[in-house]
Amino acid sequence: MTTTTDLVSYEDALASYDPVMGLEVHVELGTKTKMFCGCSTELGRDANTQTCPTCLGMPGALPVVNAIGIESAIKIGLALNCEIAEWCRFARKNYFYPDMPKNFQTSQYDEPIAFDGYLDVQLEDGETFRVQIERAHMEEDTGKSTHVGGATGRIHGASHSLLDYNRAGIPLIEIVTKPIEGAGERAPEVARAYVRELREVIKALGVSEARMEMGQMRCDVNLSLRPHGREKFGTRSETKNVNSLRSVERAARFEIMRHAAVLNDGGTIIQETRHFHEDTGSTTSGRVKEEAEDYRYFPEPDLVPVAPSRAWVEEIRAGLPELPLARRNRLVAEWGITALDMQSILNAGALDLIVATIDAGADAASARKWWMGELARSANESGVALDELAITPVQVARVAELVLKGDLNDKLARQVIEGVLAGEGGPDEVVDKRGLKVVSDDSALGTAVDEAIAGNPGIADKIRGGKLAAAGALVGAVMKATRGQADAARVKELILEKLGVSEG
Ligand code: ADP
Ligand code: MG
Ligand code: ZN
Repeated sequence: MTTTTDLVSYEDALASYDPVMGLEVHVELGTKTKMFCGCSTELGRDANTQTCPTCLGMPGALPVVNAIGIESAIKIGLALNCEIAEWCRFARKNYFYPDMPKNFQTSQYDEPIAFDGYLDVQLEDGETFRVQIERAHMEEDTGKSTHVGGATGRIHGASHSLLDYNRAGIPLIEIVTKPIEGAGERAPEVARAYVRELREVIKALGVSEARMEMGQMRCDVNLSLRPHGREKFGTRSETKNVNSLRSVERAARFEIMRHAAVLNDGGTIIQETRHFHEDTGSTTSGRVKEEAEDYRYFPEPDLVPVAPSRAWVEEIRAGLPELPLARRNRLVAEWGITALDMQSILNAGALDLIVATIDAGADAASARKWWMGELARSANESGVALDELAITPVQVARVAELVLKGDLNDKLARQVIEGVLAGEGGPDEVVDKRGLKVVSDDSALGTAVDEAIAGNPGIADKIRGGKLAAAGALVGAVMKATRGQADAARVKELILEKLGVSEG
């Protein structure tokens, strides 16, 4: 066990070493049934109610492969620009763990269904980095253990453990990158951008919701350092089951600083798994890494080989949706924004909301303005995600429409949005209830304009004398008197008319 961890600063680490990373991402597929039996995959049900002899590893029970699982794996492979195997098998990965009743995990070893691809990812500044994919293979999830009676929820110190096999056999796709070299100081950022892009791809394909906070997608971060100019890779550490984008970035960053400290001291990095701790942003030692041969992999004798016909693969390829990067590039061009603007939209989780708002009739500029401005601020203040706000894209589109028609100005529109968020009803209801409407009718504005002129004789004289810029102060006075509801452009026209000056 490590006690305290020595670190060198990130800058110093990068001054001496180049990081090399490998990312292994597990995605839980959203199939209705498990990978090798007909048990339901529904979440949140009572423990051990979704099990059968096959996923419990009873003697004589035989697995049958889930066709949707295979199709999903092929979709992922194609979206990642991979080759799809003409023929491949499952393999048994043998080891004992109580959450794995068969005593082996059905996985794929040297015959993955998809291999040799790449994924282009975008960094914060809009630049693109290509991550090479080694393979994507099919496997199954394990059950879940809960350790009871200890202080930490870990097995250490627990009095007993509970096992729930509902998750055992849920299909997983593991996507493994080739070693990622050449990212330099941006390695942690590349790791985060890669996992994010992969998540977007998975969601676009509809094969999983890929919610990291629910464990539907998790990432192992392999990292090693080598001195500048050296070709041979250093020894890697493997930080397991990192479950948020931010943590992926932090784990990579921490390991760079830790490896550098060990290497600077003349020490050696042990090839081991490590755990990432959300609270401290640090990693601690797990177990010494086993080698592939320790698992005694061998081809699964109970399942037939998977041999997807080329016709089927091409049919799946033809049915793929527009992929996220291509879609973003298209929208950047359509909306006339920069790649950097698009990064902020993505960071804010606003892309789909903006698109839905445009689909509901708003123009692109208004849709972006409301979601990235007023609504982003509001979400931020209440600490929720944009899509958790109590307003729909259709309602935002209606607000934009009212502004466009001149019924609302921006200030009133903000009040309408505030009302919708507060649960006062839809935009039109809030407009009615709060009596929000731009007043552009001259008789209603006339009195307020007269009062503003009478109350500010000095300013009125300046305007008469030709200082038209001074009109702004009178417009301000009218806006104040009408609680922001006056049509500012019309107010200015009225002021100039009444003072007998013209703008041209
Ligand atoms: P394992 O099952 O032992 O984790 P894998 O081959 O499945 O091995 O995954 C290892 C990951 O780490 C891959 O993404 C690979 O590209 C990457 N990798 C391999 N060697 C190194 C290294 N020395 N430094 C950093 N990453 C590495
Ligand atoms: Mg691994
Ligand atoms: Zn089952």
